[in-house]
Amino acid sequence: SWLKRMSKDGDPKYSRQLHQEIQAEEIHKNLQFFSSRPHIAGSFQEEEVLVNYINNKWKSSLHGAKIYNYTVLLSYPDANDPNYVAILSENGVESEVSDKVEKILSPDQNDSTVVNPFNAYSPPGVIVGDPVYVNYGTVEDFQYLTRDLAMNLTGTVAIARYGKIFRGDKVGNGEKFGCAGMILYSDPADYVVGSLDKVYPEDWWLPGTGAQRGTVLLTNGDPRTPFYPSTNSAFYLDEKDIELPKIPVTPIGYNDAVKYLSKLSGIEAPSKWKGNLNITYRIGPGFASPYEKSKMKLYVKTHNVQRTIRNVFGFIEGEYEPGWRPRRSILFCSWGAEEYGLIGSTESIEELGKVLGSRAVAYLNVDLSLAGNSTLRALATPILHKLLYATAKKVENPNPEEVRAGRKSVYDTWVKNQPSSQDPNLPRVGELGSGSDYSSFLQILGVSAADVRYNYDQKYSLSSYPMYHSVYETVDLVSRLMDRGFYYHQAVARIWGEMALRLADDVILNFDCVQYAETLQRIVNEVQSSYGPKLLQNNITLNSVKEAVGEFLEAAKNLQSRVEKVNRENPLEVRKINDQLMQLERSFIDPLGVAGNLHYRHVIYAPNEHNQYAASSFPGLASAMFDIENDPNQERRWQQVKKEISIIAYTIASAASTMQEHG
Ligand code: GLU
Ligand code: CA
Repeated sequence: SWLKRMSKDGDPKYSRQLHQEIQAEEIHKNLQFFSSRPHIAGSFQEEEVLVNYINNKWKSSLHGAKIYNYTVLLSYPDANDPNYVAILSENGVESEVSDKVEKILSPDQNDSTVVNPFNAYSPPGVIVGDPVYVNYGTVEDFQYLTRDLAMNLTGTVAIARYGKIFRGDKVGNGEKFGCAGMILYSDPADYVVGSLDKVYPEDWWLPGTGAQRGTVLLTNGDPRTPFYPSTNSAFYLDEKDIELPKIPVTPIGYNDAVKYLSKLSGIEAPSKWKGNLNITYRIGPGFASPYEKSKMKLYVKTHNVQRTIRNVFGFIEGEYEPGWRPRRSILFCSWGAEEYGLIGSTESIEELGKVLGSRAVAYLNVDLSLAGNSTLRALATPILHKLLYATAKKVENPNPEEVRAGRKSVYDTWVKNQPSSQDPNLPRVGELGSGSDYSSFLQILGVSAADVRYNYDQKYSLSSYPMYHSVYETVDLVSRLMDRGFYYHQAVARIWGEMALRLADDVILNFDCVQYAETLQRIVNEVQSSYGPKLLQNNITLNSVKEAVGEFLEAAKNLQSRVEKVNRENPLEVRKINDQLMQLERSFIDPLGVAGNLHYRHVIYAPNEHNQYAASSFPGLASAMFDIENDPNQERRWQQVKKEISIIAYTIASAASTMQEHG
């Protein structure tokens, strides 16, 4: 009977079939097809060729597919008038002009549609000013310059190295501290291991001619339509009323950067600020003799353009009937304009938020599936950790040496290479910050999410995989130097597929609410040890939060025991439990935003306000406590701290109430 059938989890034979169907050779062919030519958002290759291909493919192999169009603000450099930087002498002569295009090192980079290095949403402009080296451009770096060294950065051209934090935060800091422009470069310390002669195409390290592109926008989605979709009926804000970067910025490679950094005047940079170029790193401001009268020139033609981007949704309809159909529907999403600030995913969440927010069980993200071949790297909200472990145990280890050493699954290598700091018998699952398309699912809708990839060895202190966003990031790089045979890609696809299968087919969602409780306890302990004494001096305690976490743990255990006892043949009981599991993440959403930022609303985790790539736990409190001693208005700041603690306590207690059996 259908009642019997619907009380059973998916048949394991479908899992075996899925693993069998995901084949490395096919992934290689697909990558070849998708990446043989540049396909920047808004281009014909992306919005017509590739989007139509995905749509047709999904139409023929799934139950259906649909394209969603959004007319949004993008940004490009001027193909006929490339960005550059140079030294400008006092009589106006330019020297040491930077490369306007990245040098072609092998034929596969030779394509007339390559878009030259630029940072999206930089305003155009020509800036002339004294150069200053600002290290990674973090808040702490700028505080060192302006507080410890008492430098006035007004009107300067900051030279910042890529790495550690999201590039948009570097530019935001530069702007705040008065810089007139910014040059971003990749230092070998962050993108090369070993000798500078052994770089691409010989090895996978970044050559000196490579420059990292990337957006410097600090908000998610089309900047002209915050919180509403850029559809035909959209009201578009005027460009002068939107939050865009205000200072010109453009990226260069280290072969160019060394020409400017080696000529800086001023004190020697502190040891932590030194990169791996063969020079004495100095801070400036200005150039040393004989260039003391010269300035740094920044020539930027990057400009904003309105274009239509397209998402594709494909779907498999779920139902209880056999002949394989999943229990729940599976929606496949191909997002447009991720690189520009998660634009496609955010616009769709704005347009379809009511449906996705009330029906989506979970969101699985794969952005760059492969950054290296050392280990699985996963980010997820605590409710999905257990499912991630179970999934990784079922996927064959793509590394033959690891298999020979007895580590047969992806999980085995993961736990060996990245043990959790709380429990070394479990692998580490990181926290979701931002910088990829899971962001609005988690931060606006409160949908539980995970992000997976294969990663490089953490013993290399790389800031990202070396060729990230350069012209050298090609199929040749991947197939020759990063994943010969595509077995690591295959493993990631299997993880993703296996996890989707379980989420779609398990009668009771494999969601671990007790893990959420334990994580909350850990966060409270960490917050207690870092802020506790300071809070106490101001007669503030975390007691209300601790109490709420206690209630949460009780409620989570209670829900867990009901999960174990549920009568799987009672569809109403099954549905009730699943609803509670699915709703838990939603209950952490504050519709008023964390510390007033409406882009980020998850009270437990949100992107760090100084580095969008990273996560901050209890972000509202972290924001209220940051650099609190230096706030002239102490009274107001401590009031804010109290308010944030009360919001956290209230939110956790109300989340606990959603897990109770009777309301
Ligand atoms: N993934 C893109 C990047 O890292 C976009 C990040 C974002 O806008 O948050 O450049
Ligand atoms: Ca929008």
